[in-house]
Amino acid sequence: MNYKSVQIRKGKEQSLLRKHPWVFSGAIFSDVSNIKDGEIVIVEDFKGRFLAVGHFQHATISVRVLSFEECKIDQTFFDKAINNAVQLRLNLGLLSESNNVFRICHGEGDNLPGLIIDFYNGAAVIQCHSIGMYESIDLITTALKGSLGNKLISVYSKSSDTLPERILSKDEYLFSSCETPHLAKENNVDYQIDWINGQKTGFFIDQRENRALLGKYSFGKKVLNTFCYSGGFSLQALNQHAKLVHSLDSSKKAIDLTEANLAINNFSGQHTSIVADAMEYMKELKEDYDIIVLDPPAFAKHRDKRHKAIQGYKRLNAHAIRQIKSGGLIFTFSCSQVVDKYLFTNTIIAAAIEAGRNVRILEQLHQPADHPINAFHPEGEYLKGLVIQVD
Ligand code: SAH
Repeated sequence: MNYKSVQIRKGKEQSLLRKHPWVFSGAIFSDVSNIKDGEIVIVEDFKGRFLAVGHFQHATISVRVLSFEECKIDQTFFDKAINNAVQLRLNLGLLSESNNVFRICHGEGDNLPGLIIDFYNGAAVIQCHSIGMYESIDLITTALKGSLGNKLISVYSKSSDTLPERILSKDEYLFSSCETPHLAKENNVDYQIDWINGQKTGFFIDQRENRALLGKYSFGKKVLNTFCYSGGFSLQALNQHAKLVHSLDSSKKAIDLTEANLAINNFSGQHTSIVADAMEYMKELKEDYDIIVLDPPAFAKHRDKRHKAIQGYKRLNAHAIRQIKSGGLIFTFSCSQVVDKYLFTNTIIAAAIEAGRNVRILEQLHQPADHPINAFHPEGEYLKGLVIQVD
């Protein structure tokens, strides 16, 4: 192996010895000026002993570790890692008659830091968060073809939003092409997925199990689904015979996606769409809802925004708790990685105190199994939620 090496300060090897997959720029003492963004490097301790191999980038996270054993990062490496990831999802039963939407690769959770791959009924959408992964995209595509065989109909790369601007990345098909929107199925409900014009890779797959749980509680109920995007929660509620569903999003484009999904499932009759700011709308509700879903975008992306985010979650939840009908349920979520589940729970408790009502926690929710958390990288835990009953 003739990879360049970076050396890290004495003491800074500890986290790598515990298999944490990131090396921060401050930990490195060797000169890295001759190393290019995306290059594969060997990480060594201050005595020159091997610690790991990974992708280098001139950024706060300087190295994302691909292996803690000496190995070449080549086609064989990606074939094995992608196949492991695919097999896990197949073992979880995520490709079936009733479901063909799942995440194939969840970055550090699949020992491939910087790489997200989502699967929509045969179409794979790749999103790279590191330059090294972006430069490996042909190896990744070949590995997907090898592992999925005829289950794969196309591969699209969508990384221009997630890579630094200095990289001229192109969003494009890498294998075959697929007309969008593309029909896919989550828990027996059809969805039209558009990765080209939609947010992220086109759909929020991480709420699949929580949407199914909402379905379980929805029979005969009046449901308000705020921050609905393409209507995932609304459709699962309607599929389980909710009495009526109101879906709200501030984006007209999102509401159009919701309506298209309602139409293909013949659910439009029991449904009303609302284009509005959720925080404003929640101040005074016009309907007596049995169930309210609160699934806002990440209010805090960085630690320094955490305090403000907490105030936002508290206000939003206090509005819902104050107005929901007695015995009603609130499905409340946060996908801010910097707000952990304990802080989130305490925020909901504070909202209940502010609203002056008794609240019980019925369910504690989290990201699904196809978004695994690497045990040595606790930062991978980001989605948390509660189902609360307001007495
Ligand atoms: N619950 C969705 C995913 C939510 S993504 C699902 O299951 O697929 C967050 C959504 O919140 C986006 O669609 C975005 O347009 C919307 N949004 C962001 N700010 C908002 C606001 N202030 N009021 C209402 N919707 C908002």
